[in-house]
Amino acid sequence: MHSTAENWRIIGHRRAVRGLAHAAATESPAHAYLITGPAQIGKRTLARELAAALNCTAAPDQRPCHLCPNCKMTDKEAHPDLIMVERTTERRMGVEQVRDAREQVDWRPYQGRFKTYVFVDADDISEGASNALLKTLEEPPPQIVVILTAAQADAVPATVVSRCRVLPLQPGALDEVVEGLQVLRGASPEEARRLATLSNGRAGWAAAALANPELAARREAELDRAIELSEGKLGARLLKAAQACKGENFLESRALCLRTLEDMQTWWRDLLIVSSGASAPLAHAARRVELERQVEKRGRARIVRGLREIEITAGAVERNVTPRLALEALLLRLN
Ligand SMILES: [Zn+2]
Repeated sequence: MHSTAENWRIIGHRRAVRGLAHAAATESPAHAYLITGPAQIGKRTLARELAAALNCTAAPDQRPCHLCPNCKMTDKEAHPDLIMVERTTERRMGVEQVRDAREQVDWRPYQGRFKTYVFVDADDISEGASNALLKTLEEPPPQIVVILTAAQADAVPATVVSRCRVLPLQPGALDEVVEGLQVLRGASPEEARRLATLSNGRAGWAAAALANPELAARREAELDRAIELSEGKLGARLLKAAQACKGENFLESRALCLRTLEDMQTWWRDLLIVSSGASAPLAHAARRVELERQVEKRGRARIVRGLREIEITAGAVERNVTPRLALEALLLRLN
């Protein structure tokens, strides 16, 4: 049976979409999926699109049609067979939330073919919760699909991961996001390009920023800060580093720090492009003069080394090194 992925309202992630579209068309999904990737990359959207496709009443190759009642309700996350389990702010996904969800697990779908449970941001899920979840994954009732989303697979217990089909989502290519914003969201070409550039390949963010201009302004301030971390007096930069990774908890601090490092990387990659005289497009094309000034000051060898230091630091933060200390150590080395 053929299935097309064209109806899926998600920007990019073609490979994951193709696999899921086939699963929906043949009504043979895995019992559990783990969708991983950075914030606002499209994890929740992908989960919702799958839930819609699984219960869509259109022809198999048209699912999700976004027109039938099942699709319409799922699009609004208001379908009785779609259960979104979200952790409350500041608290880990707890055992009660999973148990509450599990209590309904043996029920048959109300009006669709499948019942889909989406555990949103299951990073750092508590041990009790993951044990409760494992029971479901060990003896999966038919017609139940469990989807977990997380920033990284290693934030979820290995026993849970091993029972899931893992779908790692990567940031989209610039052109892919530009096109998606125009086709799926009706953005003008200029707007699409500007937001796609600011998004670093995070289509979910770009789509949100299209509806809320404040997000783009905030993002521009973040980028400014990342650039300021690469330049200027060390004392001031160390202060900025502390602000840049100040979160409510470790996970939030880590996410903020990784994002800052990613922004720094974008800036330093531009420095490298300018220093090598390549014609590759610059992420910060509007700041070409400043880029050239920094290139002249640092020289190519230091830029190459700096870029590598930033990458190494990002790896260390991903492996749970304290975000603020890692960022400060980086600034000392970049000095
Ligand atoms: Zn439909």
